[in-house]
Amino acid sequence: MATLTHIPRRGLLFVMSSPSGAGKTTLSRKLLAADRNITMSVSVTTRKPRPGEVDGKDYHFITPETFDEMVKQKQLLEWATVFGNSYGTPRAPVEEALEQGRDVLFDIDWQGTQQLAQNMKDDLVRLFILPPTADTLRERLIKRAQDSSSVIAKRMAEANHEISHWPEYDYIIVNDDVEESHRMVMAILTAERLRRHRQLGLTDFVRNLTKKL
Ligand code: 5GP
Repeated sequence: MATLTHIPRRGLLFVMSSPSGAGKTTLSRKLLAADRNITMSVSVTTRKPRPGEVDGKDYHFITPETFDEMVKQKQLLEWATVFGNSYGTPRAPVEEALEQGRDVLFDIDWQGTQQLAQNMKDDLVRLFILPPTADTLRERLIKRAQDSSSVIAKRMAEANHEISHWPEYDYIIVNDDVEESHRMVMAILTAERLRRHRQLGLTDFVRNLTKKL
């Protein structure tokens, strides 16, 4: 097979938001497994780990004091309080990835997405996942059953609020079928990578190309 032309480009920030239980975690995992050039941003949180969650992989679990210190030192790109806990995105790994042409996937809420839109609009691609029905959302939350029933009730109420932010996103997927949704996610990523402003190597490439015409 012929070698494919490689045009250096800047990485992008791919945000997937949704209410808890809309299938976002499954879609993120499928995306990370299917594409080697995108990595997950590991957030810091003051929330306690759920059973099975691994420190440094699912989150960096930190104390409220450490969180406040990171905010003060401007080490977080964005942060928010969700369900009474603090969550934030460490800045350094994201900036490094962008410069190296690697993409970063974010599982953050609408508050964090708004902050990224203010600070890093050109690098940002926003995707919102909707459940097809309210019942699907409820069933998925109950099936997950990692949270207590009072937390589940609270999250159902919060889902309404989270969903109200859908118009702030660039792409919306109604997650009826996970395989079909995954294909749509990959299509969005492929198209966004081709945007002219991300393809930093194009000027040189075209200069070389036209020199020989
Ligand atoms: P969970 O506690 O279920 O892992 O996450 C609760 C909510 O916090 C989810 O909506 C998730 O998207 C959001 N979240 C997780 N990490 C971050 C982060 O770094 N920043 C922001 N703004 N939200 C986050």
